[in-house]
Amino acid sequence: MTAPDTASVDTVIIGGGVAALWTANVLKASGQSVAILTNSPLGEGQSLAAQGVIHGGMKYAVAGKLTDSSEALADMPTRWLAALRGEGPVDLTEAELLADHQILWSLPNVVSRVAGFFGSKAVRGRSGRIAKEDYPAVFDTEAYRGSLFRIEEPVVDPVSAIRELARGVSEETWLVEWGENVELETADNRISRIRIRNGDDSCSLTATNYLLAAGAGNGAILDQLSIDSPRMQRRPLHQLIIRRAGLPPFFSVCVGATPKPPVVVTTHIDSQGRPLWYVGGDIAEQAGVERSEAEQIEFGKKRFAEYLPWIDLSNADWFTHRVDRAEPLTGTGDRPAGAFCERAGNVLIAWPTKLALAPELADQVLRETSSSNGNAKIRLPLPRPTVGNAPWDLD
Ligand SMILES: Cc1cc2nc3c(=O)[nH]c(=O)nc-3n(C[C@H](O)[C@H](O)[C@H](O)COP(=O)(O)OP(=O)(O)OC[C@H]3O[C@@H](n4cnc5c(N)ncnc54)[C@H](O)[C@@H]3O)c2cc1C
Repeated sequence: MTAPDTASVDTVIIGGGVAALWTANVLKASGQSVAILTNSPLGEGQSLAAQGVIHGGMKYAVAGKLTDSSEALADMPTRWLAALRGEGPVDLTEAELLADHQILWSLPNVVSRVAGFFGSKAVRGRSGRIAKEDYPAVFDTEAYRGSLFRIEEPVVDPVSAIRELARGVSEETWLVEWGENVELETADNRISRIRIRNGDDSCSLTATNYLLAAGAGNGAILDQLSIDSPRMQRRPLHQLIIRRAGLPPFFSVCVGATPKPPVVVTTHIDSQGRPLWYVGGDIAEQAGVERSEAEQIEFGKKRFAEYLPWIDLSNADWFTHRVDRAEPLTGTGDRPAGAFCERAGNVLIAWPTKLALAPELADQVLRETSSSNGNAKIRLPLPRPTVGNAPWDLD
């Protein structure tokens, strides 16, 4: 079937992670026509590498005060849980909720500070102490001397979430190879059109607005458009993966002496049904990034032997995954407080800065765009993308 020579939509979305897909679902539900162009399997990049924690801000609040970050995140658990129930514009009813809360546990030297903070008025209702008889399997030992707190922050399986988001906009999503079957035409820092050529078929795609939601790919597109502001920053991570038969579920934030949690652990099942702990937090940040894979694994083994000596990880498979977070450039090199969306001409430049903040980003994009042709369907002479794999299922 040949495609028409021209196609036009309200919003073209360049990207294929949570930002592009969540926003596309919201725009579509509002009556807009959208076209999503991704250059890789959906979610590959940061979204499928995420731990899936739907932060409500408590991790940032643990530093001792409720920050801008914690306020921006406060509504996100409610928004995601509504989507998981099928309420609202995004339907995640078939996505998997891995845990409805996280455990906050402390290293021995900080027990009193944590207990004081969680008893304070600032966090009342957002967290509570866990009674000893309700301790999860990981802490079913006399050896743990700290307290455990429950944080009302769910953990979602990123793979099933991306799959379900993709399902909602499958007819609006295409796989592109820039320079091969598509070209971006630009003039005066604006996108004029997208030229598509595939075999004998060709087509010109235009839109009222073009949303750059390509994560780390936004940087190169901004360069192509000669847009000087905003700019992009990357913050690398070096995550640890510990895989062992019989690992108990562990969804937790560890509190140490420093503001950043030493380790944040989520539990996932790989494509062969094997449980694994996926470890981020401070261990995966600057010093962790400097370490080689072997050094990071050695460091991780020492830390886990020190933190949870009663858990036998001697027969576990250890490996690591490197991935960059991509965000707008901030003066300090820190993560901006909320989701980011800024207009430059007909281009909207967006980074959610957190998986959790995808709903907030979609709200911002919705405010910047509108429907002019009522969900009109288009056909493009391009293939469809597949959904990508989690880091532990990459070859
Ligand atoms: C290790 C790690 C753990 C994390 N854990 C959490 C967590 O637990 N909770 C949380 O809230 N946040 C977490 N985050 C942050 C979260 O993953 C990101 O903020 C979010 O996934 C970013 O989504 P995105 O769609 O902007 O980018 P991405 O997921 O990177 O998607 C961008 C997509 O655009 C595509 N693309 C790139 N260039 C182009 C182009 N030129 N044309 C077309 N397509 C293009 C890419 O192929 C990619 O699929 C984590 C991040 C990392 C790295």
